Order: sequence, then C-alpha cells, then structure tokens
Amino acid sequence: MEAIKIQTSSKQYEVFVGEGVRSEISTFLSSNFSDLTRILIITDETVGKLHMDKLAPLISQWEPAIFTAPGGEKAKTFEVFYEALSTALENRLDRKSLIIAFGGGAVGDLSGFVAASFMRGIPFIQVPTTILAHDSAVGGKVAINHPLGKNMIGAFHQPEAVFYDLELLHTLSKQEIRSGFAEVIKHALIYDNNFYKWLKSDIHRLDALSSRQLFESLTKGIQIKNEFVSKDERETGIRAYLNFGHTLGHAIESEMGYGNFTHGEAVMIGMVFALKLSREVAGLSFDIDEFVTWVQELGYQTEIPAHLSAERLLSKMKQDKKSSGGSVKFVLLEQIGKPKLQELSDDFLLNHIRNF
Ligand code: NAD
Repeated sequence: MEAIKIQTSSKQYEVFVGEGVRSEISTFLSSNFSDLTRILIITDETVGKLHMDKLAPLISQWEPAIFTAPGGEKAKTFEVFYEALSTALENRLDRKSLIIAFGGGAVGDLSGFVAASFMRGIPFIQVPTTILAHDSAVGGKVAINHPLGKNMIGAFHQPEAVFYDLELLHTLSKQEIRSGFAEVIKHALIYDNNFYKWLKSDIHRLDALSSRQLFESLTKGIQIKNEFVSKDERETGIRAYLNFGHTLGHAIESEMGYGNFTHGEAVMIGMVFALKLSREVAGLSFDIDEFVTWVQELGYQTEIPAHLSAERLLSKMKQDKKSSGGSVKFVLLEQIGKPKLQELSDDFLLNHIRNF
C-alpha cells in the first residue's frame, strides 16, 4: 500500500492506494471522527450491485444509509442532487455525519457536492472505483451539471481521505479502462517525460494491465495531480494545465451526447489535436505519429468523428467555463512536461479542426 500526501492550501489528506485498502476505512473513521453520528454512502446502480457487499459490512457499526444514483452523468443532475440531500435529511445526518463517495468520477463529484452543501458542509471520503477517478477523487473539485453546461454548479471541497482500492477496478469495462487511462497519459505528457517514456515502452494492452502496471500508473498520476493542486487549489494559474486535451475533448463529448463517448476517449482526441497545435505554434518537438500509433494500439480513436461540425465544436469550446471573454485558451506543450496556456483565434481553430 502507498500513502500519497495531498497538500492543498485548505487541507492536507492522504490517498491510500493498493489492493484491499478499503479494510483501513473503519480504523481511519474511528481514529479521526470519534463523535461520528451517521454515514451516508452514495454510490451508483452498477457499483452498488457489484461492490457494496465489499464496503458496507466494513463500516456496519455506523449502520450506514445508502443512496443509489443512476450510472454515469445521470448522477450529476439537480434532481439526483436533491434526492441525495433528501436521503441525508430523512436519515437524520447532522453536522457530525460523514458521506462516503463510492464510485467513479460522477459519483465522486455528486457526493462531494452533497457533502459541501449539506448543512453548509460536512466531511466526506472518496472510495473511487474507476481509473479515471485517480484524477477526479483528488483535488477537491466537486460539481453537478446544468442543462446548459457540464460541471457548472459546484464547489471546492476536499475529502478527508481517499481509499483507492485497486481490487475494485477489476470489473471495469474496456471502454472505462480506456477512458481513465487517457488521464494517466495526460498526466505524463504535462509533467514528466520519463513517466511518459515508461508508459509507452511498458503498456501495450489496456485489457491486460498487470497489478504492478496499474499501481505504478495510478500512484504516479496521483502524485502529478498533487503537484498541480498543491500549488493552485482554486485554479487561478497552473491547475489549468490539467485541462490539456480537454478544451476540444469536452466539446466532442458534449456534441456526441454524454454517455455515447467516454470522457477520456474524447480527451485523447483533444490531446492529439493539442499536440499538433503545440508542434505548430509552441515549438514542441515530438513524434506525434509514433504517439498516435501507440494510443491506437491501446484502442483509442484519434480522429474527430466525421459527422461533427467544426463550427459547433468551436462554439462549444467558447462556452467552456475555462474560456474567458469569448476567446479560447488552449493548453499547449512547449516540451513534454512543459505546458503553457495560449489564446488561439477562431479562424485558426476552425481551420485546424477542419484539416485535422
Ligand atoms: P463514472 O463515475 O460515470 O463511471 C463510469 C461508468 O463506470 C459508470 O457507468 C459506472 O457505473 C461504472 N463503474 C464505476 N466503477 C466501476 C467498477 N469498479 N466496475 C464496473 N463499472 C464501474 O465516470 P468516470 O469516468 O469515473 O468519471 C467521469 C466523471 O468525472 C465526469 O463526470 C467528469 O466530469 C468527472 N471528473 C471530475 C474531475 C474532478 O476533478 N472533480 C476530474 C475529472 C473528471
């Protein structure tokens, strides 16, 4: 087991990573929350069915209440948020209660926002169950979606701890593994060329990741995420670099319809696009063809789906909450591990999307 310390300006906490780490949760709660009144576990239908029997019995002394959200982005609606708060009130949670987020990034975002809002904020812990959640469970950004935009309603609310039990990842579909692993690759590209080289030489099949590969990729990814959030918890500066590949990625995800294309798969296309722009305008020297061959071997698509309109993608990029004043800011790489933010004109982007 590895314990990675996350240091933000508002809070310090640990991410415990390893097979079976969920067995430490009860000791953690007893030693850190001696007057804990109630626990609400928030999960989704799939994770609840597959794994609740591996979590609830471990904390049975607190007789946890369970709220089950629908799977995927459907967990992040106002209606589900409202129902989760109602469940918390019906079960008499109070200011000394705690929420456990048990699921992927969607459940983590929902649960964290419920915890941030309930009685003006109660503690929560993350028990992530997807590869993508190595990213989303760390850093304290929590949110639900508005019909007009993803993650538009939210807060910064750091968890008390993260228990990342790799045993729970074995049931993930190939598509969800790919989605999550795109964020691991992103972390390498924006921060650590050696990590990138290791990934590229060691990982050739995402459906046959060994425990060692998974452990090393995820611990390294979490450490990199910590480097950014520890210096910029509220995204006033370098935390924005974590959006590498996301500007176009979010636009593709939204144009394809949430749930039809996973987050990470869309981000991978966004990363290939951003790498090409980086080579053209940021001086990046990098073999993009070699990169594309590798990620295609891992099962990723690297082209923008042909039926998507360049104008609509641009308009979506301009709505992104990271854009400001109507212009699109892109995260580009000067070198692997050296990101920068650059404003790009509409014409330039349209042209490059059309000729991608
Ligand atoms: P998810 O939570 O929707 O999970 C994806 C699917 O996998 C769901 O259908 C879920 O039921 C299923 N699943 C989860 N764990 C499983 C398991 N162990 N076995 C089998 N199936 C399992 O999605 P995700 O990809 O983990 O996260 C995406 C969400 O994370 C998005 O809403 C995104 O906005 C958010 N996100 C947040 C941050 C942040 O900093 N807060 C960062 C990145 C992404």
